[in-house]
Amino acid sequence: MFAIEKPLPRANEDTAPYWAAAHKGELRLQRCDDCGHVRFPPSALCPRCLSQHHEWVKLSGRATVFSWIVVHQSQHPAFNGDTPYNVTIVELEEGPRMHTHIVDCPNDQIRIGMPVEVVFDRVNDEVTLPKFRPAKSK
Ligand SMILES: [Zn+2]
Repeated sequence: MFAIEKPLPRANEDTAPYWAAAHKGELRLQRCDDCGHVRFPPSALCPRCLSQHHEWVKLSGRATVFSWIVVHQSQHPAFNGDTPYNVTIVELEEGPRMHTHIVDCPNDQIRIGMPVEVVFDRVNDEVTLPKFRPAKSK
């Protein structure tokens, strides 16, 4: 019997600053220098105005639940032991929506519009995954 490892994100030229910030416990996304749009996922061009100029800004980490599902039958064997687990889309205070996982909350207590805050799951020496938990502060 061998353990199947979970697939992990691999940073590329566009996403490396995002993953590096997460590893330091910061949620950072690109904000367009020309139109101010904050975007996710990371990309070379602003999807709103096509500008190449941006700054990686630190976000508040606050969000609300936009939608979620509960997975009862895993599509990857490495996640079989985790079922049932949630896959959630949160809407960040700054606007972008991202897929994530809600922690510290039973699946049946997740609600649309629920305030959540980012937490960082340090998976190994290279990868830290931003996840969200019910907000404890305002
Ligand atoms: Zn722009």
